[in-house]
Amino acid sequence: KKFVYLFDEGNSSMKNLLGGKGANLAEMKKIGLPVPFGFTISTEACNTYYDDNKVISDKIRDQISSALVKLEEETGKRLGDASNPLLVSVRSGAVFSMPGMMDTVLNLGMNDETVAGMASLTNNARFAYDSYRRFIQMFSNVVLDVDVFYFEQLLEEYRENKGYLTDPELSARDWQEVIIGYKEIVKKRTKNDFPQDPKQQLFLSIQSVFESWNNQRAIVYRRINKIPDHLGTAVNIQSMVFGNMGDDSGTGVAFTRNPSTGEHLLYGEYLINAQGEDVVAGIRTPQPIQSLQNEMPDVYKEFTKICQQLEQHYQDMQDIEFTVERGKLYILQTRNGKRTAQAAIRVAVEMVKEGIIDKKEALLRVDPDQLDQLLHRRIDEKFARKQVAKGLPASPGAATGQVVFDADEAELLGSEGKKVILVRTETTPDDIHGMVGAQAIVTSRGGMTSHAAVVARGMGKPCICGCEALKIDLVAMQFSVGDTIVKHGDIITVDGATGEIMLGEIPMIDPELSDEFQLLLNWADEERALGVRTNADTPEDAKKAFEFGADGVGLCRTEHMFMDPARLPIVQEMILSETFDERKNALDRLLPIQQKDFEGIFEAMQGKPVTIRLLDPPLHEFLPNKEELLIDVTKLQISNSDSQELKDKEKILKKVRQLEEINPMLGLRGCRLGIMFPEIYEMQAKAIFYAIADLAKKGIQTTSEIMIPLVGHVNELKVMRQLVIDAGVQVQNETGLTFEYLIGTMIEIPRAALTADKIAQEADFFSFGTNDLTQTTFGYSRDDAEGKFLQSYIDKKVLTENPFAVLDQEGVGKLIETGVKLGRQTKPQLKTGICGEHGGEKSSIEFCYNAGLDYVSCSPYRVPLARLAAAQATI
Ligand code: ADP
Ligand code: MG
Ligand code: MG
Repeated sequence: KKFVYLFDEGNSSMKNLLGGKGANLAEMKKIGLPVPFGFTISTEACNTYYDDNKVISDKIRDQISSALVKLEEETGKRLGDASNPLLVSVRSGAVFSMPGMMDTVLNLGMNDETVAGMASLTNNARFAYDSYRRFIQMFSNVVLDVDVFYFEQLLEEYRENKGYLTDPELSARDWQEVIIGYKEIVKKRTKNDFPQDPKQQLFLSIQSVFESWNNQRAIVYRRINKIPDHLGTAVNIQSMVFGNMGDDSGTGVAFTRNPSTGEHLLYGEYLINAQGEDVVAGIRTPQPIQSLQNEMPDVYKEFTKICQQLEQHYQDMQDIEFTVERGKLYILQTRNGKRTAQAAIRVAVEMVKEGIIDKKEALLRVDPDQLDQLLHRRIDEKFARKQVAKGLPASPGAATGQVVFDADEAELLGSEGKKVILVRTETTPDDIHGMVGAQAIVTSRGGMTSHAAVVARGMGKPCICGCEALKIDLVAMQFSVGDTIVKHGDIITVDGATGEIMLGEIPMIDPELSDEFQLLLNWADEERALGVRTNADTPEDAKKAFEFGADGVGLCRTEHMFMDPARLPIVQEMILSETFDERKNALDRLLPIQQKDFEGIFEAMQGKPVTIRLLDPPLHEFLPNKEELLIDVTKLQISNSDSQELKDKEKILKKVRQLEEINPMLGLRGCRLGIMFPEIYEMQAKAIFYAIADLAKKGIQTTSEIMIPLVGHVNELKVMRQLVIDAGVQVQNETGLTFEYLIGTMIEIPRAALTADKIAQEADFFSFGTNDLTQTTFGYSRDDAEGKFLQSYIDKKVLTENPFAVLDQEGVGKLIETGVKLGRQTKPQLKTGICGEHGGEKSSIEFCYNAGLDYVSCSPYRVPLARLAAAQATI
């Protein structure tokens, strides 16, 4: 088996075998760029090394040795030859670039003899000894595991004794003395002399690079970036070129475009008289690449030409390492440059305009997940952050403000234009006004679907939930995390995208929907076959989503209208009513309010379809908290035992107890409410129809779809469908108008998916409610699972992902596929969509496309992401 490839034996398609760095070095060689010659030891060799219990087999050693001979022939130099030594770098290079995570050794082949040879050969003793001391430090650190600190400390003392301020002031003689000290360090720390045999140096370094695949940094990096652990790294052996040979030499790094903004302008830095690592190490401040134009005009000209050539060749923005040795330019690495979302979009769009790539390719160049960065205010990454605590990243965006613990205060200060962050154990509908007034919401309890999270996402406000480390003390008006105490009025900054809570103010950048972004999304629309709707509960949400290009509303949750503080009393009255007439009276007052909401949403969507779901949550969610009530009642019993207030509160408490359920998620909710209290659904249906009629009179067109939640048996839907139709007939008779509408259901109970052929008889459309469908399929209650065991499940690899964030294709997905298939057996034209949070997640979106759904629906701020992901699914 072939484990070793000379640079002229490879090309860029061999990344799996040669790693990204090796494959690109070979490719650059192939297209005639000035790349120092060398060879690559394959990733398979690395894996074989681990299979062989961490020894480099004789076979691999032999192949390395023969490649070395070829390299010696090519360069006319020999490893360890004092009169004409070959020096090489030993460079790690994985399949997916893991910048700086693994090890590299430069100047290998130096020893007490070759250094002298180098000195006389180049007639530059200072350079030779400078290279040698670099090698000793690097090799000792990487291979022998000696901390660089010892070397740095010695060098610093030496400089001080001699009165030098910078390294370039050291002469050859000085470096020789430093080297003696360096070798003593090695002897002391490793109990051995610094290895003088270059062959031994080489194999030890190769082994270290193999080992560095499994250093802690690399493991963590792979976990974060979802890179598999079994890939292994390749090792590149490359003849050295020297940027430290004097003022006609140097080294640098450049991006062909600005990786932060995407601007088409060479972006980079270099250092004169230095070796590769110095640029990143920050010992000297590098100069901007543009000044190279003055310092080395010919090199600069050649370099810019090569940059263009590489961009054209790879058809993507490149990140390039180069070195200049005595006025001659060498290219040492190229790869597709990492970039921000903003840059990714601009580069992709401009490359289409420049004719480098086509639109489809441009759509694939932008990661939908990154787009979130652009739609919310975000922390300027340039500034350091001091984290105090971390919770669930419930709603993205960043905000700074004073800590307040009370919703009324948040509202008051907010109305005065002050920036506050509302910190609560949890939020309830009573806190809505405070949430409106606050810049962001933090809770110490509750999951990603808790009240605070859902409402905050709807408002597009940053929110961190379930931050259990946070101990709120309402008496002392402060919260603490460990021994950090944050007082009422203190300034904090929160990042809802990461869940971080930080002390003090951190500068922010505004979101930008650039022209390029709009253009890219228009291209996405041309490409995609999957509709993108939005989950919008208010006209404001609907307007926002419309701006972001939504094709309609896929889910309008009517309960959030009920939670509005102005209406909550009427809703509570409705729930507390003892008689049908009392209830009817309350409902009659709610009807015009709901109608107005629906009109607003219909208007915002300008004729695009709007799916309205009738009331879903258990009724007790609209009533006050039981414990608080109990305290109030007890207090009143003591102080004011025959007041009206006590009687009222006792009545509410009784009702709260009556409605209390052991498992509300599986209790009296969804269509079960509609069957138990038909007048509620009837009121809602009428509100919708009156809205349609009133708008029709004004000449405003609407497309409405009425959705019955939580159906498990076709009979449930049958009864509810008839109820809606009757309400429709009534309103049509009253208004003298006829209108069309659809009645459908949410598929969120496994039984509904499994009997979808029957259910489809009564449904014009299905919308897969994957939040509940995931709960009911796994048998997890989401709020309990996310707080209590889901993270452990993921840590212990029981589950690979949180199924509430990334659709479980194997199980929940199977139910969706079954539902679509059975439903369409009955009604081939059945409209299908998904309205869970998964509708805004890219892999789930791809699944929905493949499952044959007509649309996904997601929160307004995820609409752009979904448009792009939907396009990518079709390409
Ligand atoms: P990383 O993957 O951490 O960037 P590299 O293998 O690219 O590590 O090496 C680090 C630095 O060493 C590079 O910036 C490059 O400039 C320098 N370097 C690597 N090989 C050579 C070489 N053959 N000649 C001169 N400099 C080199
Ligand atoms: Mg590099
Ligand atoms: Mg549901």
